[in-house]
Amino acid sequence: MRLLWFLLLGICSAVPKRFDNYAILRITPQSEEALIFLRSFEKYENVEFFTPLTKVDQTAEVLLPPQYQDVFLEQQRGLDHDVDVVVAVKNVQEVIEEGVRPADKAESFDWSYFYPLEDIQSWITGLAEEYSDKVEVSNIKTYENRDLSIVKVSFNPKATKVVFIEAGMHAREWISPAVATYILNEIIHSTDAEIEELRNKFNWYVAPVTNPDGYVYSFEKDRMWRRTRTRLPGSDCIGIDANRNWDFHFNEDGHTSCGQTYPGPYPFSDICTRGLSQFLLNLPEKLQSYISLHSFGAKILIPYGNSTEHLDNYDEVYKIAEGAAKALEGVNGNHFEIGTALEVMKQGKVYGSSVDWVKAEMKVPLSIAYEIKGDFFIAPKETIIPTSEEMLQSVLYAAKEAEKL
Ligand SMILES: [Zn+2]
Repeated sequence: MRLLWFLLLGICSAVPKRFDNYAILRITPQSEEALIFLRSFEKYENVEFFTPLTKVDQTAEVLLPPQYQDVFLEQQRGLDHDVDVVVAVKNVQEVIEEGVRPADKAESFDWSYFYPLEDIQSWITGLAEEYSDKVEVSNIKTYENRDLSIVKVSFNPKATKVVFIEAGMHAREWISPAVATYILNEIIHSTDAEIEELRNKFNWYVAPVTNPDGYVYSFEKDRMWRRTRTRLPGSDCIGIDANRNWDFHFNEDGHTSCGQTYPGPYPFSDICTRGLSQFLLNLPEKLQSYISLHSFGAKILIPYGNSTEHLDNYDEVYKIAEGAAKALEGVNGNHFEIGTALEVMKQGKVYGSSVDWVKAEMKVPLSIAYEIKGDFFIAPKETIIPTSEEMLQSVLYAAKEAEKL
C-alpha cells in the first residue's frame, strides 16, 4: 500500500502544472476598504501578486486562478467600483502554449519562440564550432548536473575590457534568455558598423541561462517557477532565489520560509551563484560593465537594492542609464524607470543580488540590472524580437558609455 502511495505521488508530481483560465488582472484599489479586500486574496493558493499591493491608487498585477474569479468579481462589484480592474490576460495557459517552440521547429533558432534549454545549448555549441578561434564556452555544473554556459566572444586579441551579460537567473523570466541570445547573436554576426566597433572594443561574455535547472523546470513542470532546484541539508525548501544568494548584505531581512525569494541558508549556498562569482573573480580582463537581465517591469536598476542612498558612482551611472533608456525608447517607444531597486520596485529592500555584489566586491564601473518590459513573465512570442531590438540598442549604448567610466 505504501509503495502504491509513493508511486501515485510520483505520478502526481510528474504532471506539469496547468494554468487553464488563470487570468492576470491589473487592479487598482481606490479606497482603504478596497485595499483590504484585495489583500484578502493574498492567502489563497496559487494566487500570486506579481507586483505588490502597496497603497490606494497604486496598480498591482495579480495571477488569479479560475476558482476565485467569480467571488472576486462579485465582491468587487459590491465595493461599488472601488477597485479598477483590467483583465490583461484571460487565459494564461494559452499564452504559454503559443510561446513554446513547437516540435516541428526544433531545427530553427530565430527568436520566433521561446526555446527550451537544449535548443539554446546546441545553438551555443554551433557558434563555438563555427567561430572556433573567436567564441569560447565555459561551463559550470548545476545542482542537477546540467551546464550553466558562459559564452566568451573575442574578436580582438588586444581587447582588455569586458562586458558581461547575465540572464535567466529567475527561471520563469523567459524573455531574459531570449534577449541575451539575441544580443549574443548580434554581437557575433551583425554587419552594423557601430556593433562591429563594439565587438572589437570589448570581450563580450554572455551567460544566457544562469539558472538552467529552474529554466528546465519552468518548461516541463511549472511555468511560474522562479527559484533554482537546489536542495540543501537541513532545509525543506526546494530551490533558492539565485538573485538573493550573493554575498552582499545577505538575507538581512531574516527570510526563512520557502517563498519565492528564499535566499538560501548562507551566501553562495547555490552551486550556480558560487560558480558564477568565482568565474567573475577569475576573469583575466577588466570587468567594465556587468548587465543583469530580468523581467518584467520596464526598469533600469542601479546599486544598491537595499538603499535609497546614491552610493559610489551612482550619478555617473544614472546618466548612462538615462541614455540607455532613451536608446531603448527610440526603438518601440517604451519608457523605462530608473533608480535603485528599493526606489522603483516597490517591493522593499533587496538583499544579496548579483549586481550589488559585483559593484561592491569587484568595484565594477557599471553594474546594472534591467527589468525587461516582458509582459508578466509570459510575454507573447511576437514580442520577443521587438523587445530584443530595444534591449540590444540599450545595452550597446550602456556598454559604449561605460567604457569612459
Ligand atoms: Zn528576476
